[in-house]
Amino acid sequence: MADVKIGKSAVYASSLGLGANAIGGHNLFAGLDDEQGKDILRTALRNGITLIDTAYIYGEGRSEELIGAVLQEKEFDRSKVIIATKAAHTPGNPDKKDNSPAFLTQAVEDALARLQTAYIDIFYIHFPDEQTPKNEAIAALHQLKEAGKIRAIGVSNFSLDQLQEANQDGYVDILEEEYSLLHRQAETTFFPYLAEHDISFVPYFPLASGLLTGKYEKEPTFAENDIRSSNPDFKGERFAKIVETVNQLKPIADNYDATITQLVLAWYLKNPEITAVIPGAKKVEQVTANAQAMDIHLTKADYQLIDHLFAVFN
Ligand code: NAP
Repeated sequence: MADVKIGKSAVYASSLGLGANAIGGHNLFAGLDDEQGKDILRTALRNGITLIDTAYIYGEGRSEELIGAVLQEKEFDRSKVIIATKAAHTPGNPDKKDNSPAFLTQAVEDALARLQTAYIDIFYIHFPDEQTPKNEAIAALHQLKEAGKIRAIGVSNFSLDQLQEANQDGYVDILEEEYSLLHRQAETTFFPYLAEHDISFVPYFPLASGLLTGKYEKEPTFAENDIRSSNPDFKGERFAKIVETVNQLKPIADNYDATITQLVLAWYLKNPEITAVIPGAKKVEQVTANAQAMDIHLTKADYQLIDHLFAVFN
């Protein structure tokens, strides 16, 4: 599958990436193993995935460090990997977000050191803060871009107003927001503005944290420190309705000799509003399987059928 261009930048990435919050993200999931995380990354790179989506807050630097370590290995070529990372959480006080130019400039330097690289391909402001004018925050990133330290500018978890303020000078290349077949608000909130301003879109939680894989029948319980433990999608009637709808994908997936997960990923890959999809993974086998979605080409009729099945969640 051809690489996709990120906004107005010179960055090209695989349309199927790897979400790396389970690589070193010990503050998000219980029982992660760093060696397994590194193997997940190696597997992704070996299977044609070039876009790696991480953030400072995934393990408060650990995810970036593990990725940096793997990219030092002889087998891999840094120049072929598109590293996307994010910052806004204050080290030592993650509840406090900071978008000030001084904070972002330091955050990029710190991320470069942890990633052991001279440049970051895509740098996102991970969350808005309350005080910094967004155009001033982006102006600082634009300077870092001109200095060659970052190659594309992104924002995440912004409202449309904040995005518009951030993009006042046209410098924003990419937006990352929650979006999946179950959570489609971005279609009305953001998609028209993104199309008009040549801003790429990357949805997060594309598999709805695993719910769209078809592997759940009974309501699961997660450790208290797992981000899914408070997710209403995994509870009660909503959970039952999701499972029922996801199961209806099985015969369609069978027609492509694919799994439900691969079919769902192929739906995003065919969606013209979506630039790249970044499913996370906790096992090597999941990455190998997910990478194969790049070989599935949905017919227009099946794309629309899936769209229609999930319209009930819109
Ligand atoms: P996701 O992509 O919706 O779901 C990923 C999870 O689904 C995996 O960790 C795995 O969990 C399960 N899974 C993946 N492939 C599978 C397969 N083939 N078969 C069965 N299960 C499979 O959720 P996510 O990883 O949390 O989100 C994606 C990425 O978005 C993150 O990694 C992160 O990079 C990014 N993100 C960004 C933000 C932001 O604020 N910008 C917020 C959240 C996430 P289990 O094995 O545990 O089921």
